Amino acid sequence: MSMPLGLAYARVVHREDGMHAPDYDDVYCAREGGLDESRHVFLDGNDLSARLAGLAASQVFVVGETGFGAGRNMLATWALFETQAPPRARLHLFSVERHPLRAADLRRLVARWPTLTVQIERLASLWPAPVQGMHRLALAPRVTLDLYLGEAEAGLAAFEGQVDAWFLDGFAPARNPAMWSPALCQALAARSRPGTTMATYSAARGLRDALTAAGFVWTRRPGFARKRHMLTGRFEGQATGRAGDARPWYSQPSAVPPHGRIAVIGAGIAGTTVADALARRGREVTIYDAAGPGGGASGNRDAALSPRLAVEPTVRTRFDLAALAYATRWLADHDPERTLWQDCGLLQLARSRDEVDRQARMLAGLGLPRSVVHGVDAATAAKLAGTRLASDVRGGLYFPGGASVRPAALCAWLVQRSGVTWRDHHVTALSRHEAGWAVVDDAGGWAVFDHVVLANAGAAAMLCPDLPPLGRVRGQASHFALAGAGNDASPACVVCDRGYVLPARGGRQSVGATYEPRAADLVVHDAEHEANRGLIGALLPDLAAAIAVADVRGRASWRCTSHDRLPLVGGVPDRARWCSDYAALGHDATQPVTTAGALWPGLSVSLAHGSHGMLRAPLAAEMLASALTGAPQPVAGDLVEALHPGRWLIRQIIRGRVAPDQDMA
Ligand SMILES: Cc1cc2nc3c(=O)[nH]c(=O)nc-3n(C[C@H](O)[C@H](O)[C@H](O)COP(=O)(O)OP(=O)(O)OC[C@H]3O[C@@H](n4cnc5c(N)ncnc54)[C@H](O)[C@@H]3O)c2cc1C
Repeated sequence: MSMPLGLAYARVVHREDGMHAPDYDDVYCAREGGLDESRHVFLDGNDLSARLAGLAASQVFVVGETGFGAGRNMLATWALFETQAPPRARLHLFSVERHPLRAADLRRLVARWPTLTVQIERLASLWPAPVQGMHRLALAPRVTLDLYLGEAEAGLAAFEGQVDAWFLDGFAPARNPAMWSPALCQALAARSRPGTTMATYSAARGLRDALTAAGFVWTRRPGFARKRHMLTGRFEGQATGRAGDARPWYSQPSAVPPHGRIAVIGAGIAGTTVADALARRGREVTIYDAAGPGGGASGNRDAALSPRLAVEPTVRTRFDLAALAYATRWLADHDPERTLWQDCGLLQLARSRDEVDRQARMLAGLGLPRSVVHGVDAATAAKLAGTRLASDVRGGLYFPGGASVRPAALCAWLVQRSGVTWRDHHVTALSRHEAGWAVVDDAGGWAVFDHVVLANAGAAAMLCPDLPPLGRVRGQASHFALAGAGNDASPACVVCDRGYVLPARGGRQSVGATYEPRAADLVVHDAEHEANRGLIGALLPDLAAAIAVADVRGRASWRCTSHDRLPLVGGVPDRARWCSDYAALGHDATQPVTTAGALWPGLSVSLAHGSHGMLRAPLAAEMLASALTGAPQPVAGDLVEALHPGRWLIRQIIRGRVAPDQDMA
């Protein structure tokens, strides 16, 4: 039985002398001296003022912490970065917390730390639901926080990045021993590079020994206020990187040099979100697409942000939860006026006893907080939808964070606002040269780029033969005119069953989408409009009566799929090299292998978003942009691996289905 994903909030008692944690008999922040202690122990202990001031343009400085608590150290580091660092440098904060505070508790800290008011308010506005896993928060244009909610050791194991300075914080070792264990120090070492520093308020003997064993050379210094000693240190052990990992083939693409040129091929949601994420990091991006932004599946008028959760916390379930939380934060930042999206909530209806059972098992198994998803009965579902539901609806799941988006408008807006260079052409060939990739377009023009991102869905296979097989599934969405007071019958939130019905917009009711794996054309078919109308009829009887059947528009396009229905995000394996480097695994999959996966230099992909591109592409873009700028990954390492474009190839090799110089089975 797997552990539920939902976590308990921290118990907090606010007293005159500070904010207390009764479960640990310790304080989050004392009335006096809290920030001074942070500065003395952690910021000065890691010499951050000078190191941040000395950053090169576009350099990413990574700070890791073992106990977020009320965020005091991280917020103080952010404030220091804003005053010290050169204009284009970036700060990446990573911290772990088992019992997160509530946003309301965070906001109360403004009174204690008024100099951090801006930082506290921003953090509280982005504060994630208490769900186990990594949460990426874009604190400021150049400052990112990855907050892992869960056990510290699990968080460190999940973290895909290398840290420049560690803060070993958390409640006192005597009250919270797991936070200071030898295993934890080994985990810090595994995410350190030569020269990584550390600082901690504790100078306990056990900690000193554990640090030494992990490869840190420490020094005792005067502690803060009444504390006699604290420790600072430097990692001088062996940085293991991927060579020490059980699956070394899942390597990440190398960072692109700060002035490197990047081409993104395809201007659907995958390409435009990648281009935007890179441009926001100050990178020079050119995007190619002869069909214009949203020329493929992303050209739909409306879409839903709808996660499909399994009963168990599978990688897909965890990725979709992370993607939903990230996409809504990302949309709120990009479009606070809600012109391109609507945070209207989403219902997944249950109309059979089996589905009611499945949903109940899912809620019990995942244990997610109500703010993410909760069960509703039929009457509550109808109330949320604001319209009558069919009589066979037995209830459902309600996602308060579910949303509707306008994909075509969003893609066009991203291209226009991100300041990328637009090329109104398809790419017909890629060839690798010493100077980079030569990109040839359909007008015969060509240009050389340091890095190319393939985001052109199924057409990517024509440009890169080393990709895993990609499938395509036709889908058609319909937009019916609404007669008379039809808007009143349209749902107030997204309503899903085997398809989705969205809140009406501009006098039209969008519904989708058909799913035709065997179809071979993209002609809009009346029969598929009829199927979509049937969905409305099956779920929303008053709306069915209000749509003007004869006045319907629609659009058909291809969903691009992978063999396991997860997207492909990351670098592209060099098939010939993998086949020879990992050939031994075909005879014995338990063979120890240390060779890191060889990737095509300067090539990565965001593909195969299937039926969920609107949900998944923003987080996928953040993954790629992080890798290409040398920053840590926004999701846990096992999710990075689950989406790795080499996963199909390594399985084929292990199953003995592919050998060097042999076609793939
Ligand atoms: C009917 C339908 C309804 C859907 N509804 C939803 C929904 O409600 N929610 C959701 O999350 N997802 C939905 N999806 C899925 C979603 O639309 C896709 O996952 C998403 O659009 C994929 O985005 P993409 O950028 O990967 O691909 P695409 O949007 O297909 O973009 C690929 C782009 O690459 C360009 N291109 C191709 N070849 C080249 C080349 N050689 N050079 C340059 N450019 C090239 C194309 O012109 C195209 O613009 C739906 C899909 C369909 C078909």
